[in-house]
Amino acid sequence: MSRPQTALVIGAGVAGASVAYFLSRLGAQVTVIDAGIHASSSVPSALINPVRGQSGGVDARALEGMALTWELLRELKAAGHHLPHGQTGMLRPVPDDKARTRFERNLAPGLAHRWLTRDELPVPLSPGWAHALWLPEGGWVDGAALTQALLEASGARMIRGRASAWTARSVEVRDADGSISLFPTCQAVIHCGGSIGSSWAGEHRTHRMGTLLTLDQAATAVPLSFGAYLAPSAGGGVLGATYETPAQGWQEPALPLASHSWLLGKGEALADLSGVNVTGRWTGSRLSGLRTGQDEYGVWHLSGLSSKGFLLGPLLARELAQAVVEDGP
Ligand SMILES: Cc1cc2nc3c(=O)[nH]c(=O)nc-3n(C[C@H](O)[C@H](O)[C@H](O)COP(=O)(O)OP(=O)(O)OC[C@H]3O[C@@H](n4cnc5c(N)ncnc54)[C@H](O)[C@@H]3O)c2cc1C
Repeated sequence: MSRPQTALVIGAGVAGASVAYFLSRLGAQVTVIDAGIHASSSVPSALINPVRGQSGGVDARALEGMALTWELLRELKAAGHHLPHGQTGMLRPVPDDKARTRFERNLAPGLAHRWLTRDELPVPLSPGWAHALWLPEGGWVDGAALTQALLEASGARMIRGRASAWTARSVEVRDADGSISLFPTCQAVIHCGGSIGSSWAGEHRTHRMGTLLTLDQAATAVPLSFGAYLAPSAGGGVLGATYETPAQGWQEPALPLASHSWLLGKGEALADLSGVNVTGRWTGSRLSGLRTGQDEYGVWHLSGLSSKGFLLGPLLARELAQAVVEDGP
């Protein structure tokens, strides 16, 4: 099996950083090109949540993905990286019997979970929640810190600029001052541009914007999620959700007033927020429709991680890196 000696990764979000990390572990010399803007991976607190949405669905790769993300966090922390996170377990409040039945139908075999009685709740829940599902293997992670640690650990060379054109073997980069440099003769180009990169590339895919309000303290010691989520974070806590209407392109980050009120209402429905103050906001856009593998021009892709970037990104990146290496120069 021949190994690529050089690879160019476009995008330094969790997808690109994970690809760089696993390619480096397989012996490749990696250069990462990043425009430095609009990375949804800089989300201040991302849930590691195997049970998705309001249906209790579990992604087929969720258990593997979750295990790998926690393993990476342990490895990177042991290597001295600063990585705010909590493998605390997480709680999914469920509003009624019908929703519980839906969850029970969809929960995957092998998923550690337990339905808690009111007396067993690890944190107080607002009244009105009929059931509570405890996921002992869930938790939260600081998105920017994990992404940065993966990049640093990869030893990849970082280039700041926007890739304006690429082939299977080279990338053209436009600097902030408009000057163009060509990075030629690499053995693999991997596009991990996320939501903004998909729009820049002229793709027609589905994007969803969402917002986290940053809080001066964690409203609860463990993450809570149903519709919106409350979670601890490095700076205190967050209240967040991805709820804007899906769009066919990346949109300038914004928080309409109605969304702000909606988010606060969802937060208050989850837990008592009295005494908790909003300190700021972070808005990002995520891309749906997973794309992984090589296109007809020989360019590799990892994008469309949707709301599962930190649950599945490292796992899918590890598999992609292996495929790139096996493909050879
Ligand atoms: C509000 C919100 C909450 C979320 N919560 C969670 C959560 O709880 N748990 C979870 O797992 N996931 C969550 N996500 C999803 C997660 O953030 C994304 O799935 C993940 O960050 C996507 O990573 P990425 O690397 O594909 O893209 P990004 O992080 O967007 O990174 C793409 C990078 O590529 C760069 N780029 C693009 N094109 C080019 C180019 N041509 N040249 C150079 N650079 C380029 C961009 O500047 C950017 O830095 C959330 C997302 C949002 C918006």
